Amino acid sequence: MLDRTGDEITTGHPGRHWHRLADGRVQCDVCPRYCKLHEGQRGLCFVRARRGDGVVLTTYGRSSGFCVDPIEKKPLAHFLPGSAVLSFGTAGCNLTCRFCQNWDISKARAFDRLQAEASPGEIAEAAARHGCRSVAYTYNDPVIFLEYAVDVAQACRRRGVRNVAVSAGYVAPQARREFFAPMDAANIDLKAFTEGFYHRLCTGRLQPVLETLLYLKRETQVWLEVTTLLIPGENDAPEELEALSAWVAANLGPDVPLHFTAFHPDYRMLDKPRTPTRTLVEARRIAMARGLRYVYTGNVHDEATQTTRCHSCGAALIGRDWHQITARGLTGGGRCEGCGEPCPGVFEGPPGGWGRRRRPLALGSAA
Ligand code: SF4
Repeated sequence: MLDRTGDEITTGHPGRHWHRLADGRVQCDVCPRYCKLHEGQRGLCFVRARRGDGVVLTTYGRSSGFCVDPIEKKPLAHFLPGSAVLSFGTAGCNLTCRFCQNWDISKARAFDRLQAEASPGEIAEAAARHGCRSVAYTYNDPVIFLEYAVDVAQACRRRGVRNVAVSAGYVAPQARREFFAPMDAANIDLKAFTEGFYHRLCTGRLQPVLETLLYLKRETQVWLEVTTLLIPGENDAPEELEALSAWVAANLGPDVPLHFTAFHPDYRMLDKPRTPTRTLVEARRIAMARGLRYVYTGNVHDEATQTTRCHSCGAALIGRDWHQITARGLTGGGRCEGCGEPCPGVFEGPPGGWGRRRRPLALGSAA
């Protein structure tokens, strides 16, 4: 599905990852939709568009807003726990999930959501000034604003600030390499474990997401965690959770954290109830029985299933209740204080004390 708005595309940052087709159209090669564009057309994500003989990113430098969040909200449980992360997104998305939990941003068709302009250097500087150890590319899928995300990430690296990608992993191979090169951590949505779910509810495919997960695990040093939003009656059948967990264990290994998070009715899926906590707890039990060591529930209060435990002696390493750290049993170097066993992840010093605060930031100039 392409979008011909009638607007003349007069602005935009030169895009990468596209090529000309013999029939005169230009194909965007950022994600597996491979939109084929005539002059004046936008891709399905709405933010990439054809201008002249190329593709431009129409939202470069523009954000839907900035917030300082706990890193646990991304969610990342084994990456600089307790630290603050400067989070931002833009507009649009390359999947069309009926259950989108951020639809006011991702489905934005006009740019009225884009409130602030900020250069890569300004964002990196703001992160450092506000004590954020990382910047997260989140809220909508950052692969669609690849050129902006990569420039911000490189500016952050120069300032000693880490980079966190929160993505559905729906990205084509060449763009995938460029996008993840400056990233230090990623949380990838594995929305379900059937092609039918991706096709019916997201108009996408599962296979490219699995390829992104394999790429991150096998070919990069990016710290990887995986999230599955469990929707009652759609992707929470025990057989599907068995298959998903077995795939993660066999292909990504037992140490990749897996988060099962609760759905709430939103956007075009208002007919499903909230996910009961017991469904999340049962999913966690299934995944751990398949050999995964670090499986968490999310979007509910359940400290027992949100606490990181030492896989060797069972001691609580990082106690958690939702986004709040409640106990600390990890050395600064990431070992169990009780038995000395290392905990996989990125740990530099003891868990921080940012807590569950969420602080909006005014940054850059109003658009
Ligand atoms: S990023 Fe994906 S959805 Fe957007 S224009 Fe490119 S191929 Fe189409």
